Amino acid sequence: MKTSIIGYPRIGKLRELKFASEKYFRNEIAQSELFDTAKKLRTENLTEQKNSGLDFIPSNDFSFYDGMLDTAFLLNVVPDRYKSLGLSPLDEYFAAARGYQGEKGDVKALAMKKWFNTNYHYMVPEIDDNTVLKLSDNKPFELFTEALDNGVKTTPVIIGPYTFLELARYIGTKTKENFFGNITDAYIQIIGKFVTLGAEWLQLDEPCLVKDMSREDIEFFNSLYTKILENKNGLKIRLQTYFDDVRDCYKEICTLDFDGIGLDFIEGKKTLELIEKNGFPCDKVLFAGVVNGKNIWRNNYEKTVELLKSLQNKSINTVINTSCSLLHIPYTLKNEVKLSDTYKKHFSYASEKLVELNEIKKIIETEDYCNLPEYTANIKLFSEERSGCNTNVKEKVNALSEKDFTRLPVFSEREKIQKEEFKLPLLPTTTIGSFPQTSDVRQTRASYKKANISETDYEKFMKSKIAECIELQENIGLDVLVHGEFERNDMVEYFGECLDGYIFTEKAWVQSYGTRCVKPPVVWGDISRAKPMTVKWSTYAQSLTEKPVKGMLTGPVTILNWSFPREDISLKESAYQIALAIREEVLDLEASGIKIIQIDEAALREKLPLRKCDWNKEYLDWAIKAFRLVHSGVKSETQIHTHMCYSEFADIIEDIDNMDADVITFEASRSDLTLLDVLKAKKFRTEVGPGVYDIHSPRIPTVEEIKSAINKMLSKVSYNKLWINPDCGLKTRGNEETVQSLKNLVKATKEIREEN
Ligand code: GLN
Ligand code: ZN
Repeated sequence: MKTSIIGYPRIGKLRELKFASEKYFRNEIAQSELFDTAKKLRTENLTEQKNSGLDFIPSNDFSFYDGMLDTAFLLNVVPDRYKSLGLSPLDEYFAAARGYQGEKGDVKALAMKKWFNTNYHYMVPEIDDNTVLKLSDNKPFELFTEALDNGVKTTPVIIGPYTFLELARYIGTKTKENFFGNITDAYIQIIGKFVTLGAEWLQLDEPCLVKDMSREDIEFFNSLYTKILENKNGLKIRLQTYFDDVRDCYKEICTLDFDGIGLDFIEGKKTLELIEKNGFPCDKVLFAGVVNGKNIWRNNYEKTVELLKSLQNKSINTVINTSCSLLHIPYTLKNEVKLSDTYKKHFSYASEKLVELNEIKKIIETEDYCNLPEYTANIKLFSEERSGCNTNVKEKVNALSEKDFTRLPVFSEREKIQKEEFKLPLLPTTTIGSFPQTSDVRQTRASYKKANISETDYEKFMKSKIAECIELQENIGLDVLVHGEFERNDMVEYFGECLDGYIFTEKAWVQSYGTRCVKPPVVWGDISRAKPMTVKWSTYAQSLTEKPVKGMLTGPVTILNWSFPREDISLKESAYQIALAIREEVLDLEASGIKIIQIDEAALREKLPLRKCDWNKEYLDWAIKAFRLVHSGVKSETQIHTHMCYSEFADIIEDIDNMDADVITFEASRSDLTLLDVLKAKKFRTEVGPGVYDIHSPRIPTVEEIKSAINKMLSKVSYNKLWINPDCGLKTRGNEETVQSLKNLVKATKEIREEN
């Protein structure tokens, strides 16, 4: 059996590409220097893969920003507003990625969207009626040749035509069908070029095949590839899928003239079943995704070998593959210097996955592999009792019953009680939580982390910031205040650090979009609250004012979705454990006199399964319950808020209502307000605060603008259910614009109150 990967991280082990790109953006280095860095990183990757014994080595998985954007440029799907700037090719590319503001013009970036069920974001290709789709870039061919010059005949990787057309945005009257001829011609040309260059394989990524497909979708896919594969000219084509199974089009895939088919056995719940039921064509190679490309745990060789042997027994020509591109995990454990080996021996980042692939190959090829040291070591690893077990937490989760997920009295009664309790004006004004994290805040936090300032001094500083923030909000005239979140760098790490069962890495950076990387913490063991997390800050803030101050927490689903989860227990179980920990904090806050508590679920939607039929049973069933578990124990007068960073939840509106929060705030200023129609139609009972202005831009909204947004909202939401707030937290904004924007928000609200 041979080995393969689908793609490799490209940002650099120490984020070299990020730093070089950012220098280039600031005009600190020339294009040539950026190109040199990129080439060095590609060569490093290539050498590492070659030395690991990997058989199928990819090329063109490198990108200066994003693979979808690269494909758009490859196919000439570049809106005129970028072309007409007259920039160099690289700058035109970056203009589409990040927007451009300078001598040559002022244009916004392409839209950005989450890549399937990952925290990676792709640039959305934009197609209008004038778009002439044609082959117009050389990058895949140049990178193939570059690797060939380094002695490796790679498998070039390109996003396939079906996924490209599916994910593109059509802003004119044309639809994907109109591009059938041009896109098939372009891919046939791509094939032709690779044949000339001497390639053996071409990998076309088609992750859209794992989503729900209609009859028309399947036919469209079928006709695209029937045409393309008639023109293979001897090049072998691998159809690569990932993130789930291909149940809707498995038969078509098997019938089409592909030479290889890549299937995901990790997230593809039905992949094995599809093969067992329908067989696998003997003239094709199965690239079996058995090593998880999305998580950082070591592979369980016993299970993997069993699966591979069963494929072998079916006489399927199998290549050992990762489940998806390794883009979604960090580079190497070698840079985790501080993390103890107790943990590290269970982990496998991208370069360790290469070793695993090779070991699995060796095991498969060895007759009595049971005595191979690689195998026995792995068996031992998985049979050992791991630290981090907490029977108390496990028992608590096991003992949960319906009443633990149910808050009483019911919403409508609580709403009355709370109106009495708080006596807030109509259209209460509030913010989402964070206030500007100015450099003094960041610096002080960093000094404290490095133990350069004492705990006492740190606390003093934080309290002075909180006091300033409360005074500011009182002066502005907001109704429900916040403490400002100065103590936290992000929404997960801060809480993770206060929880037992979490561990943190040093260099485990993963690309989120462009030059932005995240460093997700790891759920190592059973989770419990080690110490109160926010009580100190919230109670101090409350002691300074008569107005209610919101306690501010991150919800269990968001904490879990922005971490590397465990593989030895279910996501549901981890979510309930985290929920129980946050619940303790909620009850502590309540007992300390905090009357309103906001539990953010910014990432609730992120891990929604790719197929609708899995939404409930695989995810929402426990995700919504985890949230309910957090707050079901509070008194009726305690008001629970939640917040989401997007407004695309029309399709799960009942589930959102079922979270049973008293108030939900969400992003709405950049979207049309169609969600509000849905809220009305579905008789949404939770009170709502759709953001009245966009905090992602430094622009100050005028009073008139905000009034018109509120009036629009009032035409759809009843007067006594509407809250007035910005879109999201203010931490990335400057002080001045924040104060002015909030003043305008309060003024607009007061004027509307008077007018009604
Ligand atoms: N409470 C958080 C803040 O204001 C919410 C952030 C978010 O939704 N991403 O920063
Ligand atoms: Zn938000």
